[in-house]
Amino acid sequence: MKQLILKLGREKSLARRHPWIFSGALVRVEGDPDTGDTVAVRAAGGEFLAWAAYSPVSQIRARVWSWDEKERIDGDFLRARLRRALDVRKRLIAAEASDAMRIVHGESDGLPGVIADRYGEVVVLQLLSAGAERWRTELSDGVRELAGCACVFERSDADVRELEGLPVRSGVLQGALPAAGVHIREHGLVYGVDVAAGHKTGFYLDQRDNRKRIGELARGREVLNCFCYTGGFTLNALAGGAESVLSVDSSAGALAQARVNLERNDLDAARAEWQEADVFKYLRTLRDQGRSFDLIVLDPPKFAPTAAFAEKAARGYKDINLLALKLLRPGGLLASFSCSGGVSAELFQKILAGAALDAGVEASIVGHFAAAADHPVLLSFPEGDYLKGLLLRRG
Ligand code: SAH
Repeated sequence: MKQLILKLGREKSLARRHPWIFSGALVRVEGDPDTGDTVAVRAAGGEFLAWAAYSPVSQIRARVWSWDEKERIDGDFLRARLRRALDVRKRLIAAEASDAMRIVHGESDGLPGVIADRYGEVVVLQLLSAGAERWRTELSDGVRELAGCACVFERSDADVRELEGLPVRSGVLQGALPAAGVHIREHGLVYGVDVAAGHKTGFYLDQRDNRKRIGELARGREVLNCFCYTGGFTLNALAGGAESVLSVDSSAGALAQARVNLERNDLDAARAEWQEADVFKYLRTLRDQGRSFDLIVLDPPKFAPTAAFAEKAARGYKDINLLALKLLRPGGLLASFSCSGGVSAELFQKILAGAALDAGVEASIVGHFAAAADHPVLLSFPEGDYLKGLLLRRG
């Protein structure tokens, strides 16, 4: 029998239903499991705790598929989990909001290491763990059938695959990509999505609700959108009646796509200005030019993947937030985000408090942001709660 035996007392985290088993918790591996194989996880005394996927090279040595000893981990099991994930979303997300949605969110959907994002007729599948990789064919078939899409495209090219000893892979798994490219509609706006080469699986679906909120706040305001990627916050601000939007990103490719996205929609392009620059430097340029804004969005990339990077990340967040607060007119709004799993909401708020103090401005929290409902956070898996944001009003 392929099984993992835990050290005495190390079953506590599993008893709280946390789905990861770290290498340091193990006393023995029996039955010579291969990478991705299903193993029984047992307490030191031998009692069954869970079925999990084995990952021999990762610090996360196994990820739980099921807590039920009677369960068989096979294609049918995975289909049932996929069906459940799709069902949850039917009741949570208004279909008119978008035809793009995360349909599987890894651990929080009971499918560790599996991400599936729907962009209209295309589903992008991202397999991030040895267990997910082991069931690649079944997952791809299940997604194709249950989501009823024309194409499954694989983007198993995230850095974390290295930690699992898995090669980088990307390409069509089933069907074919539409010749005219992939397009989605969100809050009435159309975007092109580069599923093959865009960030993550192509689009930041987690910010859907927050883009709408920024649109609602933008009327009559001069907006600065930092880290604009393909223009999500920019387009919503323009659609919401912003006076002007200055959008900044360091990626020429993202800006090119953003410009095309603007053209695709019936918006006043004269109100939009695009700037290819490093935000850290450009905020200083704006300061030196004496510029000011009524609404600023800061949505930087992940500075801290884990808590080990929190201190360095904190310096980065403080720097850009301090500069942004100084660029805000009194009464202006700052929507500041962090998608760093290693920076908690509490720490993020402290960083912003420090930034306001050093900027010499008074600011209050007038709103909170989180990921949209298609990115659920299992209560027993707080690591899933990576995206946080605060809406600050400068006094
Ligand atoms: N707000 C966007 C997503 C932002 S993702 C949306 O809703 O779609 C983060 C973006 O930051 C990426 O487009 C990346 O190209 C950009 N970026 C990363 N480091 C940067 C830097 N130092 N200066 C400017 N842009 C940067």
